[in-house]
Amino acid sequence: MRGGSVAVVGGSIAGCATALAVSRGGAGKVTVFERADAQLRDRGVGIALHNDRYDELQSAGYVAAEMPWAPLTRRVWSVRDGEAEHGRAVGEQPFPFRAYNWGSLWSELRRRVPEEVDYRSGALVGAVEPDSDGVTLQLADGQRERFDAVIGADGYRSVVREAMFPGLSATYAGYIGWRGTSADVADLPSDGNDAHNVVFPGGHCMIYRIPDGVGGHRLNWVLYTAPPESEDLHPDLKTPTSLPPGRLNSALTAHLRALVADNFPPYWAARVLRTPAETTFIQPIYDLEVPQYTSERMLLVGDAASVARPHIGGGSVKALQDATALEAAAVAGGSWKEIAEAYDTNRGAVGASLVALARRMGSAQVENTPEWGAMGQAEFDAWWQAQNSGSDRNSGFGGHRLK
Ligand SMILES: Cc1cc2nc3c(=O)[nH]c(=O)nc-3n(C[C@H](O)[C@H](O)[C@H](O)COP(=O)(O)OP(=O)(O)OC[C@H]3O[C@@H](n4cnc5c(N)ncnc54)[C@H](O)[C@@H]3O)c2cc1C
Repeated sequence: MRGGSVAVVGGSIAGCATALAVSRGGAGKVTVFERADAQLRDRGVGIALHNDRYDELQSAGYVAAEMPWAPLTRRVWSVRDGEAEHGRAVGEQPFPFRAYNWGSLWSELRRRVPEEVDYRSGALVGAVEPDSDGVTLQLADGQRERFDAVIGADGYRSVVREAMFPGLSATYAGYIGWRGTSADVADLPSDGNDAHNVVFPGGHCMIYRIPDGVGGHRLNWVLYTAPPESEDLHPDLKTPTSLPPGRLNSALTAHLRALVADNFPPYWAARVLRTPAETTFIQPIYDLEVPQYTSERMLLVGDAASVARPHIGGGSVKALQDATALEAAAVAGGSWKEIAEAYDTNRGAVGASLVALARRMGSAQVENTPEWGAMGQAEFDAWWQAQNSGSDRNSGFGGHRLK
């Protein structure tokens, strides 16, 4: 690492944090390749970071208090109860999270990427070719560039991972996240400090307030459920992709709107249904694990390395922690092989544990939902506890503690 040339493929959350990490770790020349040429900060959906994980990442110098955020203290799970405006709460739990706008989190990380890093927007990496002591990137514009090491921060469809483990790709979990944001934040219960989970047979919808990036707030929601079995659906739904705002298939939209109208308490149904089409989109939900986070002169971070279903509220934390772990391994020094092994030992187990937790949560909260209407707080607590006590006995909800 020390003095060497390092390419980071992907310039999103994991990519920016990793560029910072390898610069601090002593890399001589760092180049980030990001295929998007528009500013990523325009992605305006919500990201929630657990307070304790935030504190660790702030101490490590990856996030800062100036970044706009909205506090969340409690999560209320509600089921429709006839025409009762807010439905009936089936359970409540502490929810010590900070709600961010994805764009401002990215902007903060981008700002931290050192000046000397060559961050290239609109730079698509088409292929990754490892050799005995380096890696060549084939760029979409026909150029080829060789580096001492390449780090895949290129998300769940990673080309770096494809070079490391050909054919290993994310697996569709069988359901989607339908997401939206709106300016509809007047009169939220508890002044907007609660997160809400509206539950229904076959899924749930997480709703919380996020900063809008210009001093106010937006309402952010994500509804998880299986799409209808239909030939009309977007053909790519079951392969790794997502439909951007405004391009939601009309049959799918009609299905989701009917589901909300039939199953949500009136207050939350109104807010979801009046979200503008331009700010709604879907993200298919995936699982992904890799045998190792490193191979030869290549290494994976963030969603390129492992994808945990979003019920754990910890994907960004995992990505940021990957970067801090890489920095720590690089600062400790040694050959590339030693740094990569130290990183893999630290992060591989964490990734696997979060993927397992997220599968349990997806099963309980979407695939095999309980009889919500029969639940009270005691039943809810037992149900929640069962998801959080897998073989590792260490929940990891919101992300594991940073070692
Ligand atoms: C519905 C949903 C809700 C979520 N909610 C939360 C939450 O509340 N809290 C939380 O912590 N996490 C949450 N997450 C997870 C979180 O969004 C991700 O885990 C996190 O952002 C990791 O991002 P990343 O940088 O690894 O990948 P990505 O954000 O996918 O970035 C990959 C980047 O690589 C670029 N790229 C890809 N291929 C190439 C290529 N060939 N050449 C050049 N560039 C390339 C892409 O353009 C992109 O910018 C959620 C995820 C989903 C789906």
